[in-house]
Amino acid sequence: MSFRFSVINSLLKREVIKPIESPRTTAIFGENVFTLHTARKYLSDETYKSLCASIKTGKKIDRFAANQIANGLKAWAESKGVTHFTHWFQPLTGATAEKHDSFFTLKSDGTPIEEFDGATLVQQEPDASSFPNGGLRTTFEARGYTAWDPSSPAFIMEIGESNTLCIPTIFISYTGESLDYKAPLLKALEELNKSAVDVCHYFDKNISKVTATLGWEQEYFIIDEALANARPDIVQCGRTVFGASPAKGQQLEDHYFGSIHERVFAFMKDFETEAYKLGIPLRTRHNEVAPGQFECAPIYEEVSIAVDHNTLLMDVMERVSYRHNLCVLLHEKPFAGINGSGKHNNWSMSTDTGINLLAPGKTPKTNLMFLTFFINAIKAVHDYADLLRAAIANAGNEHRLGASEAPPAIISIFAGEYLSKVLDEIEARIGDKFDEQDEAILKLDIHKSIPELFIDNTDRNRTSPFAFTGNKFEFRAVGASANCANAMTVINTIMAETLKTFKKDIDTLIDKGEKKEIAIMQTLQKYVSESKKILFDGDGYSEAWHHEAERRGLTNVPSVPLALDAMVTDKVKKLFTSNNVFTHSELEARHEIELEKYIKKIQIEARVMGDLALNHIIPAAINYQNKLLQNINGLKTVGLPESEYAGQLAILKDVSKHIQQIYEKTKALVEARKVVNKIEDTRTKAIAYSSQVKETFFKDLRYHVDKLERLVNDEDWTLPKYRELLFLK
Ligand code: ADP
Ligand code: MG
Repeated sequence: MSFRFSVINSLLKREVIKPIESPRTTAIFGENVFTLHTARKYLSDETYKSLCASIKTGKKIDRFAANQIANGLKAWAESKGVTHFTHWFQPLTGATAEKHDSFFTLKSDGTPIEEFDGATLVQQEPDASSFPNGGLRTTFEARGYTAWDPSSPAFIMEIGESNTLCIPTIFISYTGESLDYKAPLLKALEELNKSAVDVCHYFDKNISKVTATLGWEQEYFIIDEALANARPDIVQCGRTVFGASPAKGQQLEDHYFGSIHERVFAFMKDFETEAYKLGIPLRTRHNEVAPGQFECAPIYEEVSIAVDHNTLLMDVMERVSYRHNLCVLLHEKPFAGINGSGKHNNWSMSTDTGINLLAPGKTPKTNLMFLTFFINAIKAVHDYADLLRAAIANAGNEHRLGASEAPPAIISIFAGEYLSKVLDEIEARIGDKFDEQDEAILKLDIHKSIPELFIDNTDRNRTSPFAFTGNKFEFRAVGASANCANAMTVINTIMAETLKTFKKDIDTLIDKGEKKEIAIMQTLQKYVSESKKILFDGDGYSEAWHHEAERRGLTNVPSVPLALDAMVTDKVKKLFTSNNVFTHSELEARHEIELEKYIKKIQIEARVMGDLALNHIIPAAINYQNKLLQNINGLKTVGLPESEYAGQLAILKDVSKHIQQIYEKTKALVEARKVVNKIEDTRTKAIAYSSQVKETFFKDLRYHVDKLERLVNDEDWTLPKYRELLFLK
């Protein structure tokens, strides 16, 4: 019996693994997190104050306090059975990284003790020379170090029987360059805070802090672990590189919000329990459009915490899935012909006075504040659309964007009918003198239409990459496997930059003697007319939009290496340096790293395709060919005329034809890779991998393999088929 059938057999014996009993969510929520509430119990007044100050204002924690906090952390962790700790960080590989160390150590005289001091809490040198650094760390200073980020609370990760204390950190080189996703994100958020507070002061002097907020929606596929393991492409690439569409795909759309299968349900319940203990506020779970696809979403949180929680959850989901003999796929496009997975980033900003800056207000005055932030966001996206596009570019998302099931690679904004009208109206007043009373100018009754606004924005935004959904923007083009920090660093930096310019523009007008409200309205008018080409409420999947976008001069770059160019333009370098988020060399390094990641992904996929073609596909086809031959020869021997086995002959010929094509193309693919591998320049090489390897061969090779899958005797086929991966329960 082939491996495939033994795997399918094993599925018959699968049982639902009962989820771990857990009390009410409220009873366990955050129990594995060193929240301020917990910290209060373990720290002295003074130390607690210094931790709070550091979280609130970024104030440095001194050595003494660090020692105290380390002691408190250790005491708390030990009370929960923890023996090891790790600095937890988010390197540019996309995964999370940790290196576990024991509290156990030896004193100079050999006495064993358990210890965790301030120095260990604050800084570590992970053996991290193998993380991507884009040339930022030369070998003589090969190591980067992790530095404690007090703004993100420490937590305990339960892995099997062992519990580990995780200290969230940023990862930087000795010369101070960031090597991870978190360090630049924190800088961008601080910059946004400063510039947003400045702009808020035109409306309300009581506001002293603006926090960007993020609620992500994580889509994923879940398949049986044994089936996943029987597919070398899923194991090595996280996606299928071959596979004929099943007779039943997603055309019935019967999966969406459908009933969740018991095994998957048990898995969800378990990872939710783990998530709650870690303080991840998961709220929704449902089936997605594609078979085997699901989504979960938390209540939104401040961006940096939400980012940590998303990466943490991706980890937790993977670990918990194995407990249920399942395998979670976070790839953007695990299956061709079926919807891919995204990670919608819902983003807004809120003040320390409790106002959501992207929620229409209740009075004309607060509405002007809303319009200010709403229009500045539109201008930010308009001015830096290419950079946003680059922020979501990766090999996986390349299959998704523009594939008529996800937003196109063209960045545009959905504002909704009602707000589009408001924007039109604002623009139409350009040239008005505004010498009427403020009241008249501010007579935009948005607050009366809030119900209308929400209805307006609920449904028709699905095809837009950047949709306004009533009180937040939803960046829908982010890929399922991505670290949201990348998109969030860009959004918050471009917003910070735009708000700074806005403030300059207003102050200039005020200096010229203009009234504040009028200065604001005039500037908003100008921004609307400068940015309105980015607004689009129609069907983003349609061919017509591609033409229209081109006419408007919006860019459409489907290829990853070309989209990444936007990371290192002069304009972008200026943006990031003037906002203290990235230096030029950090940007160059990141650009290099993204290109290298792309090259490696395509390289691995190409190799896997070659291996599968030669070791699985062709041998299976030959087996079937032999059977056909035996049959034909037998029929010939007993003297049947050829017309009686014309069908067999035709199939035989077809099979042979596809085998030849697969062989030729695999050989040519290897040759193409050899040529491309010789290219020195990373960007040129990435472009070549995209065009000369991926575009030239992947679809073509797959076409013949998928044809064979439909022709060859089912018993001879060794790779689990789509219908098995997606529909077996
Ligand atoms: P849907 O998009 O399915 O209609 P919701 O509108 O309830 O669902 O929210 C989707 C996500 O947006 C959730 O994670 C939610 O917490 C988040 N969200 C809601 N308000 C905000 C906000 N002000 N800032 C950031 N995210 C938000
Ligand atoms: Mg949504």
